[in-house]
Amino acid sequence: MIVPYTSILLSVFISSLAAPLSTKFSEDDPELTAGYFEGDMVIDDTDRNGLKQETRRWPNNIVYYKINDNFFDESHRNHILRGMQILEEVSCIRFQEASEDQQYYVNITGLSNGCYSSVGWLNRVQTYNIRVYPLDSGCFHLGVIVHELLHTLGFYHMQNAANRDDYVRIATENIRPGKEMFFKKYDENSVDDFDEEYDYGSVLHYKATAFSVNGNMTIIPLKQEALGIMGQRRGMSKSDINKLNTMYRCPINL
Ligand SMILES: [Zn+2]
Repeated sequence: MIVPYTSILLSVFISSLAAPLSTKFSEDDPELTAGYFEGDMVIDDTDRNGLKQETRRWPNNIVYYKINDNFFDESHRNHILRGMQILEEVSCIRFQEASEDQQYYVNITGLSNGCYSSVGWLNRVQTYNIRVYPLDSGCFHLGVIVHELLHTLGFYHMQNAANRDDYVRIATENIRPGKEMFFKKYDENSVDDFDEEYDYGSVLHYKATAFSVNGNMTIIPLKQEALGIMGQRRGMSKSDINKLNTMYRCPINL
């Protein structure tokens, strides 16, 4: 699928939870199969990429949302709400159901083409999709719900950080042809690290075999011990939480 660069979604993946590298290789990770920018991010305007831009942050730290009942039963709806609650518990971000006349909000859908989200606040109705899986699997891992919400809040993927080459080697020889764009670095002038070190254990880091053509690693950590945590989707790391609080200028004592 060819996606115009001006209309890309950004997505993530999941596998960290598990499969050994030796298992049969296939791209069944719903964060990666969405076909958007880096799999799961919807990038609507690449001129405006970033975390540093305060205009991309949700006003008053409030994220308005609508959960589309056509897709989700009560247990799935509650799981999405639980993901929001996890973010609320560690930051000053608040999620609020959009009223009828709310002009901008996240429209949460459950289409079957994976898990992906727009990045940052767009001042209009914006995208957040998680395919309906059984609870705690696929897009419905809480860690994936949170990962996508972090895109919604304005975060990109860890391995695209400007300084990533000091921490990982991108093995271009193993990248599936046509997916190279998912491994580009962000300009440090537009995407901020908020004074946090590179974090292999970020919930926004890809797994080592993301977009691999042959099952071999595409992202090779320069520290061997990082392999065990890269791509984890169990939850936010300490630095994920710190960045969120810094971006939204949350009070130190919540
Ligand atoms: Zn993602």
